[in-house]
Amino acid sequence: MKGKITINTDLCKGCGFCVDTCPFGVISIGERFNKSGFFPAVALHIEKCTGCAMCARMCPEIAIEVYRSGRTKAAGKAKRKR
Ligand code: SF4
Ligand code: SF4
Repeated sequence: MKGKITINTDLCKGCGFCVDTCPFGVISIGERFNKSGFFPAVALHIEKCTGCAMCARMCPEIAIEVYRSGRTKAAGKAKRKR
C-alpha cells in the first residue's frame, strides 16, 4: 500500500521519535530550524511510505498526518486521543 505523510514543522520539537519508529527510513531530522528553534522532521524518502501510521501514533506533538492511496486520512490529529 502506498502512503503519504505531512509534517507540521511548526509543531515539531525534533524529538526524533518518528525517525526511530518508521520501519522504512522515510523520516529524517532536517537541517533547517523552525520558528521555535527546533530542527523538525522531514519526509526524505516518501516513496517508501506504506501509510502504516506508526509515526503519527508516536508523535507527542501530533504533528504528523498520514494518508493512504485511495483513502482519506489514516491517522493523525483527528483520530489521536490524549
Ligand atoms: S506512515 Fe509508516 S511508513 Fe510512512 S513515514 Fe510513517 S511510519 Fe514510516
Ligand atoms: S515525533 Fe513529532 S515532534 Fe518528534 S520529530 Fe517526529 S514529527 Fe517532530
